[in-house]
This record gives sequence, C-alpha cells and structure tokens, in this order.
Amino acid sequence: FRPLVANKEVFVNRSLTLENIKCYGFDMDYTLAMYKSPDYESMGFELLRDRMVSIGYPHEILRYTYDPSFPTRGIVLDKTLGNLLKVDSNGNILVCSHGFRFLREEDVEYYYRNKFIQRDDTDRFYMLNTLFNLSETYLYACLVDFFTRCTRYSNLRKGFQHGDLFMSYRSMFQDVRDAMDFIHDTGTLKEQTIKNLEKYVVKDPNIPVLLTRIKEVAKIFLATNSDYNYTEEASVLCRWDCAETSGHGMKTVSWQGFDELIALVIVCYFMLDTQDTGKLRIGTYTGDLQHGTVYSGGSSDIVSDLLDVSGKDILYIGDHIFGDILKSKKRQGWKTFLVVPELTKELQVWEERRNLFEELKHLDFFLAELYRHLDSGSIDCPDISNIQTRIKVLTHRMDMSYGQMGSLLRSGYTQTLFASQLIRYADLYSSTCINLLHYPFNYLFMAPPVLVCVPSSFFEMISSLCERFSCLLKACHWG
Ligand SMILES: [Mg+2]
Repeated sequence: FRPLVANKEVFVNRSLTLENIKCYGFDMDYTLAMYKSPDYESMGFELLRDRMVSIGYPHEILRYTYDPSFPTRGIVLDKTLGNLLKVDSNGNILVCSHGFRFLREEDVEYYYRNKFIQRDDTDRFYMLNTLFNLSETYLYACLVDFFTRCTRYSNLRKGFQHGDLFMSYRSMFQDVRDAMDFIHDTGTLKEQTIKNLEKYVVKDPNIPVLLTRIKEVAKIFLATNSDYNYTEEASVLCRWDCAETSGHGMKTVSWQGFDELIALVIVCYFMLDTQDTGKLRIGTYTGDLQHGTVYSGGSSDIVSDLLDVSGKDILYIGDHIFGDILKSKKRQGWKTFLVVPELTKELQVWEERRNLFEELKHLDFFLAELYRHLDSGSIDCPDISNIQTRIKVLTHRMDMSYGQMGSLLRSGYTQTLFASQLIRYADLYSSTCINLLHYPFNYLFMAPPVLVCVPSSFFEMISSLCERFSCLLKACHWG
C-alpha cells in the first residue's frame, strides 16, 4: 500500500480486515466532534477553577491560567500524597511531580519504595485517562502548588492545615472531580462550546464525507456517554460541518441526509451500570429498530440486537475505550479504533528529534559490543556508568521535547501505562477518525509481528533486508 505521511496513518496493533466490518460505531466528544486544543481544555480549566472558588476555595487560585505544556494524559494521581505520577505498565514511576515541582529520584524513592506503585489500588490511585481529564490534571497541580506556597497553610504529609481546618489531598481530588461533574451535568461546558463554535470546534468537512462513504458499505451508530440534550446540541457541530461541505463544492450532505446516515443513536451509553439517567431506557425493548431513533442507556448486547450484526462485525471508533466499550470488546469481540489526537504532536517530535533516538540506539549497540566476548566467568567487567549517564541525559532531553511531563507513550525507550493500554485495548489507532478516508473499505490492516524468543541475529537479518529493500526502492525511483 502506498506509504502515507505518518500523521495520516492508521496504526495497527492487531490485524483487521476492514471488509468484514458490517457496522461502524462512533463516539461523539473528541471523535466526531473534534475540539481545538489547547483552547478547549483551557476553557474547561477556567470553568473548573471558577467552580472551585464558588464552593469556597481561595480567590487567589483565579490567578492560574492553563498551561498546555504541563499535563499529559494517562497520569496517575496519588490521592494520599497529592502527587502526579507518570508510570510504566508495571507501576514503575517514570516522573513524579508535587504541584509543579518535579521530585528528584531520591525523593521519589523516599515516598515510594523501589519507585513503584500498586496501581491496582484504585482507592489510592486514580488514572487521568481521558482528554477531559487534562484540565483536571492541571487544576490539581495548581491547587497543590498554591497551598504548598501559601503561608496561611502548613504542609502536612497528607494535606494542608489552616487553623482548625485540615484539607487532605484526597478531599481536594474529590472536589476537583465533583467540579468536573458539575460543569458537565449543568451543561456549562456545552453552553460555552456552542456559543463559541469557531474557537473550540475543528471545522472539518471530511466528517460527512467519511460517514457518507461508510454508509454505502455498512451501518453506522453513535454511542456516547453524553446525555440526550447534549448529544442533540453537539450534533449541531456536525450540521455545521455539512454547511461547510457544500461551500467547498464537495458532495453536499444536507442535515436531513446526515441524520439518515446514522442508524442508531445511544446516549448515556457508558453510564448504564453506574447511575440511572432518569431518561427513556431501552430496557427490554423487543420491537424493530426505528431508523435514527435515540435510545438512552444500553448494554453491550443492545447494538448487536438492534442492528442485527454480530460483535465481531462491529468497529467502534472513539477516544475512550473503557467502561461499556471495553465490556463489549471483551464479551462480544468488538473491534476497536482509538482516536489519539496527541499523536500529531508525538509524531512531529519523533521526526524532529530523530537524532536523539538514533543516539540511544547507538548506545544500545555499543553496550552489546562491550559485552560481546564476556560471560559469567569474566572477572573484569566494563565500566558502563558513562553510558548510563548519557542514556539518562538523552531520555530527559527527549521527554522535554514533548512537554514537562514528557511523551504520552514513552519515556526514553520505556512504554508508559497509557501506551500499554493502547496496545491492549485498541486494534487500530490514529490521530483522527478522518484518516480512515485514506484506506479502501476492503483494506487489510496487518499488525507488525510480535515475536517472542527471537535470536538477535534475526533482527540483524531484518535490518539488512530493510536496507536492501530501501536501496531497491530508491533505484526504482531513480530509474
Ligand atoms: Mg469521547
């Protein structure tokens, strides 16, 4: 297949034949409705911050403004000590900050033995996994920063004391979470978005083009955790896209037509097990599917039943593969496509700082050379401390090119917890769903081989093959 610019590519974790997909499911927020970063997160942050002040937090926190270079998604919040942690898939700590202060290795070791956390301990650790969590992550850092510096409060191990008032890191976390629910549930966030569409929403006429093309080969449904009112209003964003389409002389899709593209809309999809929405629920609905009808609540079976497709024929596309979607994947074998908007930046840094990755690779080869003729009987072992220091320097430099918390996916060569979840839960992933437009609907997405127990000579062979292949390609190009 023709090579694509990395930013247009759909990446593959597990092979998938697009031809077998009979039904495409979409999420709304950050998937069909694409928000402009960092303006959207910045607005979310300000709403959260103002809410905190209105429930009694000091007015001084109004001085903080959103800094997109600080938070990264997938950060783990320690409710006991108030730290933000970037960890790998096993719980080893890669980065640790207290407010905006980054802890040195010895301090991390002091608070966390072996620089390790039991990340299954959900009572203590909370993973800030969604794009909506970015503004929360930043607000939490602001609060810790403020109370740590403010002379009215004394710093205790688990929080801050002011006279008789003790404010724990845990209660601050809960207040931030509640503020987030507040701006969602009261519609404050939605109201601001609709009021300033130009500022917060990406105008992309490709959305209706993609949906129209899919409609010719498969069914489409929308499953979102937003409630009915929000979804209805957020669909304004898509209507707006359609108006743009006609303006560019592309295939015109009227709102009426757009509405007809979607066979089924399920709102409050992720909420089924956690709360009663008080709205119409599908319950034990046994009738036929009404085209374009909105259903509230759902279970992993509802989509298959109503659309008459089996789980393996469904590809779900969203920025969030947890909750009910994950259940659908596990129980019914749904295929998943994760939208990771950060990939644009990740790929850009990868390209711009390629020299750092190359140097790391060379150090790896150099280490291998040093040990080549040694075995367990060797007495004089080479001193590799300089190499280790250099690896640390390079890793830090690389991390800083992404932002203060580093890359979403890695620290040096180490994969983050987020990256391991992406590999585990997403069959395909890309920076936007629009990238599906670059592949025909019978395309076979092939996963790179994951080989266990492979002798290193194999990689030497592959690398020399690749080199020869690329020479061949160049020769063809010139010739
Ligand atoms: Mg979403």
